[in-house]
Amino acid sequence: MVLEKTSSIEEKPLKLMDLPRPIPEQNQILVRISTCGVCHTELDEIEGRVSPSRFPMILGHEIVGRIEGLGQGAKKFEEGDRVGIAWINWACGHCTFCLKGEENLCDKAKWTGKDVYGGYAQYTVVSEDFAYPIPERFTDMKAAPLLCAGVIGYRALRLSGMGNGGVLGLYGFGASAHIVIQVAKHKYPDGKVFVFTRPGQKEHQDLARKLGADWIGAAGDTPPEKLNCAIDFTPVGEPVRQALGSLQKGGRVVVNAIRKVTPIPELDYTEHLWYEKEVKGVANVTRKDAHEFLPLAAEIPIIPETQEFRLKEVNEALILLKEGRMHGAGVLKIAE
Ligand SMILES: [Zn+2]
Ligand SMILES: [Zn+2]
Repeated sequence: MVLEKTSSIEEKPLKLMDLPRPIPEQNQILVRISTCGVCHTELDEIEGRVSPSRFPMILGHEIVGRIEGLGQGAKKFEEGDRVGIAWINWACGHCTFCLKGEENLCDKAKWTGKDVYGGYAQYTVVSEDFAYPIPERFTDMKAAPLLCAGVIGYRALRLSGMGNGGVLGLYGFGASAHIVIQVAKHKYPDGKVFVFTRPGQKEHQDLARKLGADWIGAAGDTPPEKLNCAIDFTPVGEPVRQALGSLQKGGRVVVNAIRKVTPIPELDYTEHLWYEKEVKGVANVTRKDAHEFLPLAAEIPIIPETQEFRLKEVNEALILLKEGRMHGAGVLKIAE
């Protein structure tokens, strides 16, 4: 399903096309794709908030599949192995960011489905260094959302500074937040998780309740206790200010979004930042995040809620996601 130009998703711009099967180059693996998750970043790419580096582009960066070919020098995996591919597709390995373990900030990094062809397809190639073994306990369907929604949620939770006994606020309760609540409940059993959804978003509220949320309200509601930290997963600006307004002294808001569709409203220094409150973005993921998170997800275990689509239904899936009507994480089933 190929994107040829920036467009609104309502115009259903992703088109089914036949392209030649890619050939793995030095150290690359050829992956026959089984499932690929649908992420809000694809909406940002389609609608021009994060432009692909070239057109046409194949989007999709939560890829699960099996190795069907090895490029010269590739030796980490064997044909038939099941692997996952995430948003980080390549990093230079020697800039100041890469050397500090911050390859997510590498200026030369390439991103799956933005700079190189991604997972809305039957085949892809990737460096063997940027593919991850998938733990046995996950099906291809349940593994896909772990590769972005899960890994980046894990990174955001770490950056939030949440500790056992703390109060964590989650703004928005979609693909990533419903995984983060499960990690938080496992790692911080004495902590509390408060969930803020769009008003009237009953399905998201029901899922939050089922996954152990200690309080559920609408964005803008005043929670029963101040938050020690919060993660904002929403695509809009207002919740950043609302979260800062509900923070305890010294608290931190982490914004887990590649772009916002509306601006963050003006902040009042006394109300939103005084007493050492912080706001921090989370940008991309590292291989280390994926290597840490996937085994942890298997151990807990985290089983994502998924809504299944066929490859050719991806425009419709993205429209549901935009409207906030996706239940859990959308996943394309591409091969049996
Ligand atoms: Zn993503
Ligand atoms: Zn680098």
